[in-house]
Amino acid sequence: MLSRRDFLKASVGLGVLGITGCGGDTLVPPAALAPPLPLDQLAASLRGTLLRPNSPGYLNAALPWNLRFANVLPLAIAQCQSAEDVRASLLWAQENQVPLVARSGGHSYAGYSTTTGLMIDLSTMNRVDFDPVSGMARVQGGGRNQNVEDALRPASVALPHGRCPRVGVAGLVLGGGIGFDMRLHGLTCDKLLETEVVLASGEIVRANAVENPDLFWACRGGGGGNFGVNTSFIFQTYPVDRVTAYQIIWTERLETLLPLALELFPQMPRELGAKLTAATDGTTLSLELLGQLVGSPADLRALFEPFYQVAAPFSEQIQDMAYWDGQDFLAEPDTTDYSHERSRYAFRPISAEGAAVILDYLRRWPGTGAAANWKFFLAGEQVAALAPDATAFVHRQASLISSIELDWLGTTSPEVVALNQAWQDEFHQAMLSFTSGFCYQNFIDESQQDYLRAYYGSNLERLVEVKRPHQRVSLPPIHPHRAVKEQRSWFESSWALARAPSF
Ligand SMILES: Cc1cc2nc3c(=O)[nH]c(=O)nc-3n(C[C@H](O)[C@H](O)[C@H](O)COP(=O)(O)OP(=O)(O)OC[C@H]3O[C@@H](n4cnc5c(N)ncnc54)[C@H](O)[C@@H]3O)c2cc1C
Repeated sequence: MLSRRDFLKASVGLGVLGITGCGGDTLVPPAALAPPLPLDQLAASLRGTLLRPNSPGYLNAALPWNLRFANVLPLAIAQCQSAEDVRASLLWAQENQVPLVARSGGHSYAGYSTTTGLMIDLSTMNRVDFDPVSGMARVQGGGRNQNVEDALRPASVALPHGRCPRVGVAGLVLGGGIGFDMRLHGLTCDKLLETEVVLASGEIVRANAVENPDLFWACRGGGGGNFGVNTSFIFQTYPVDRVTAYQIIWTERLETLLPLALELFPQMPRELGAKLTAATDGTTLSLELLGQLVGSPADLRALFEPFYQVAAPFSEQIQDMAYWDGQDFLAEPDTTDYSHERSRYAFRPISAEGAAVILDYLRRWPGTGAAANWKFFLAGEQVAALAPDATAFVHRQASLISSIELDWLGTTSPEVVALNQAWQDEFHQAMLSFTSGFCYQNFIDESQQDYLRAYYGSNLERLVEVKRPHQRVSLPPIHPHRAVKEQRSWFESSWALARAPSF
């Protein structure tokens, strides 16, 4: 059982790591401060390790990417080695009425792989096997983008993937998975052939086009943690060769460049992968184009000629590279963060008026000491080639996936964070008339209203039906702060905590 001393030790550890500040200054105690729980029994049933608050490595394993949620400490962390370990953890949590959550990469924007109960940690189950004959890759449930790259690079094959090497494949594929390859090859979930899932009942099942097809459908865009714990994934890879990777930044004439980009990008060829970021650091506004073209640097310059005609870039890197070198060039620096993202899909070009609103809000950013931006990822083409109900990922017809990102520091005061979040909310609301009310489930946002409809649109009813047989346990809220989140997130996050649907 967790003693008060253990809990305090864990709290002190967090202080040492510098995890304080807004959202992180009230430690949410592990669930088991109250009744004694048979943790030894769980530890004995695992091939992997059970970490408790006084175990070496506990704090590192508990730490989520978003430090906003670093204060939510698990009662224990089951570092699973196999599907059987996952099953034992899952059944133990249910028998003992302990909330549970699955963790793979820990990169949920809204801390949905944190819990005061049992964390089922798959991060050491990260093996990736590639079969050159079939071109299939099998990724264990805790594999990350980097593990996939390491396994696929020597064979010059790939999967649609995101920019951050440490994002978990599980979270990525279960929510869809967007990246620079998507216009040519579709979403990460479009390449999924099969997944192994440990259900709430403890049953270990395969889901593919023939076996458990409804579950397979739901695992392609229905969101992490909703239908069970996925312990492996089989993907179909595709060959890759060379790309032109680019990063071009402008700091002048953004009033002309941004509306032009918003008009032209949706018409760009499918060979172009692109992300546009309009950013502020409090003093300078900038516009960054980042991505890859399956084509030559000259082809890219020709495509972007209308932008060069408006203004010379502040900086520019355009390079022909082997595909995986290009992915390294495009990779995002992976540091933990205090961050809040709010996303919206756009189904038609954002007007010049919308561009003016974006720049106006960025100019009026109150400031946190870190940064803020509005960005989009260019979708369309192969993403839109499947029908919205072909997989659970419904928003296939969107041309842009936009989001407003707000970052702050551990030292930013709660008042300043609140002021900035009010600005972000207003900005998010202001973009409604230029985008849509729909949002990307992998940019999960605890403050989004009507979030189930926003994420799943017309696929929501079918998801609810697929989930129904997998709902088992109803648990009381543990802590007021968590209660709000757990009540709201019964669907996307805490499948084992599922209560009767509220609609
Ligand atoms: C820096 C950064 C960059 C990103 N870049 C991209 C990008 O380029 N493209 C993109 O599409 N998204 C991107 N994302 C979003 C990312 O796809 C989601 O945050 C995703 O959910 C993270 O998955 P994870 O396994 O790392 O997270 P986790 O926090 O471990 O899990 C996320 C959710 O899935 C559940 N879950 C975790 N593992 C399992 C499992 N094995 N079985 C069942 N449920 C599970 C968790 O309980 C939680 O609800 C990025 C996020 C960050 C922080």
